[in-house]
Amino acid sequence: MSLQLGSAARERGIRYFLVSYTDLFGTQRAKLVPAAAIESTCRNGAGFAGFATWLDMSPADADLLAVPDPAGLVQLPWKPEVGWLPADLVMDGAAVEQGPRNILKRLIAQAARAGLQMKTGVEPEFFLTRPDGLEPADTADRQAKPCYDQSALMRHYDVIAEICDAMTALGWQPYQNDHEDANGQFEMNWAYDDALVTADRHAFFKYMARTVAERHGLRATFMPKPFADLTGSGCHAHISLWRDGRNLCADPEDELGLSETGYHFIGGLIHSAEALAALTNPTVNSYKRLNAPRTASGATWAPNTVTYAGNNRTHMIRVPGGGRFEFRLADGAANPYLLQAAILAAGLDGIYNRRDPGRRLDINMYTQGHAVEGVKRLPLNMLDALRALEESPVLNEALGAFIPSYLKLKHEEWGAYCRHLTQWERDTTLDC
Ligand code: GLU
Ligand code: MG
Ligand code: MG
Repeated sequence: MSLQLGSAARERGIRYFLVSYTDLFGTQRAKLVPAAAIESTCRNGAGFAGFATWLDMSPADADLLAVPDPAGLVQLPWKPEVGWLPADLVMDGAAVEQGPRNILKRLIAQAARAGLQMKTGVEPEFFLTRPDGLEPADTADRQAKPCYDQSALMRHYDVIAEICDAMTALGWQPYQNDHEDANGQFEMNWAYDDALVTADRHAFFKYMARTVAERHGLRATFMPKPFADLTGSGCHAHISLWRDGRNLCADPEDELGLSETGYHFIGGLIHSAEALAALTNPTVNSYKRLNAPRTASGATWAPNTVTYAGNNRTHMIRVPGGGRFEFRLADGAANPYLLQAAILAAGLDGIYNRRDPGRRLDINMYTQGHAVEGVKRLPLNMLDALRALEESPVLNEALGAFIPSYLKLKHEEWGAYCRHLTQWERDTTLDC
C-alpha cells in the first residue's frame, strides 16, 4: 500500500499528503506530510496528541497514530499537488475504539461476515453565508418560498459549479444541485456507494465545500439551524442493503417496492430512533431544526416524530420507491462516519430481531400528526437524546466502548450550554 502512495505521488505530481482523521465531533484533524515521508507514515502513522482534539483522552496519553488509508486518496481539486488521505486511529498497536472511522469499519466488517453490505447516498444541505456567518451571502435571495429558486441558484453558479466539476473529476458521479427551502441554502447530490466510500466522500465534501466557498469570499456552513425562521440543514441518507450484488431491500411486488428486509431495517431505525438522534443530530443546535415551528416558507421539512410513510416528506423515514428508503433525521452536523455506523447498527438490529416498523402513516405529520395516538416524538433537546443513547442496549452493544466516551464529551458540552446566559433570558427575566 505504502509503495502505491510513493509511486502515485511521483506519477500524479503530489508533493504533500494531508493525513486526516475525523474526531468524535466531526472535526477533521490533519498533518501535512511531504511525499518523501509518506511511505514511512503509512508504516508508522502520523503522531497526534489525542487530548488536543475531540476525543476522550488524557494529556498524559501516548501518541495517537493516524494511519492513512490509500484507498481514500483524493487530490485536492483546487491544489492537485496535495493528496488528502483519510486515516484510521491506532494507539499502542491497537485500533482506537473511539475513532469514528474505526467504528464504521468494524461494523461494516461485521455485516460482511453475514454477507451484507450497506450502500448509502447522502444529501448534505448547507448555507452559503457572509464570512461572519450571520447572514446568507446573497442579499437578493429573499423569496418567501425560495426552494429551487433558479436565479438565486445561478447567482452562486461559480461556487456550485466548481464543487460539482470537482466531484465529476473525482468520479463521484454528481447528478443534481439545487437551491433549497431556505434563503441562502443549497444541496448537492452525488451517486450512492458503499457506506465507507460514502463516508469518506461526505467528509471530503464538507471540507471541499467550505474551502471552495472561502476561496470565493463566502462561508459554507452545515450548522443544522443557523437562522431561527428559516428551514434548517438536514443530511438525508438513502439506504439499501446488498448481498452478492443483489439489493435485499427491493421487492417489486410490494406497494412501496420495499422487501421484508427493508421493513425490518426501518423497524430497527424506529426502535432506536431517540438514541440514534444523539449521533445523527449531535449538537445543541440540532434540536432547533427538529422541533421548529413552521418556517417562513411554510414547512420545516424536518421530522418531529418517529414515523415512516410512503413518498411523504413529513416523516422521519420516507419510502420513495426503488428498493431504498430515505432516513431524514440526520442533520448537517452529523459526523460522516458515526452517521453511517449508527444507521448500520440500528438497521442490523432491526433485521436480526425482525423489528416491526409499526403503522405506516400516510398523513401530513405537521398538520395531522397530533391526532394520531401512540406516536413517539423525537427528542426535544440534546440531553434527552444523550439519555436515550445511554439507555439503548442496541447501540451500546453494537457501537461498543466509544459510547461512554462520546457521552462524557457531549454531557460536558450540554453543561457548557446550560451555563451560558442568553439575551433571551435577560429579556424575559431581568424585570421579573
Ligand atoms: N432542509 C430539510 C431538513 O431540514 C429537508 C428538505 C428536503 O426535503 O430536501 O431536513
Ligand atoms: Mg434537501
Ligand atoms: Mg432528501
